Amino acid sequence: MQTSRCIWVSSAFLFLVPLACALAQSPEVSPQPITSRGTHDYRLRLYNTHTAERIDVVYRRDDTYIPEALAKLDYFLRDHRTGDVRHFDPRLYDILSDLIASVGHPGGEIDIVCGYRTLSTNESLRAHTTGVAKNSLHIQAEAIDLRMPGVDTLKLRKAALALARGGVGYYPHSNFIHVDVGRIRQWCFDCPANLVSGD
Ligand SMILES: [Zn+2]
Repeated sequence: MQTSRCIWVSSAFLFLVPLACALAQSPEVSPQPITSRGTHDYRLRLYNTHTAERIDVVYRRDDTYIPEALAKLDYFLRDHRTGDVRHFDPRLYDILSDLIASVGHPGGEIDIVCGYRTLSTNESLRAHTTGVAKNSLHIQAEAIDLRMPGVDTLKLRKAALALARGGVGYYPHSNFIHVDVGRIRQWCFDCPANLVSGD
């Protein structure tokens, strides 16, 4: 009887030792290697309403922007009147990515109404149309005008305002919104009174 009891204790002891060791070591266990965690790709699909070009590109992987993809986007968003290319602030792409996810269309195609504008193009637009700012952030490649097929542009505007990551302009008569990475502000161009506030 005594022998049996000793064997039982011994077995339990042998079992508990590795467990205790494991518990003792747990604070020192390294986090899983990055390679086994899986990566998060940030993808954009865009259609340029002026050039009729399309782009489908992964521009960021985890926290790293992909230079080759940014270069493609810079070209895609060029001033279509002059062909000039300027490097865009990639935070705009994050805004676009988060924007379409927030309206329930992650990965959906966005219509680009305007990307980069040279100073001369901006001046020309100012001379011939209304609603174009003299110091537009399009000139700095820090603004994009867009709409999204199948998504009410007013809903898109509200979603952009909720992100609160920069300026948001609403142009209901032309059916697009402007987003930029400037200071947080909002405007509504030629809007009926009930739409001015953006609430
Ligand atoms: Zn704009």
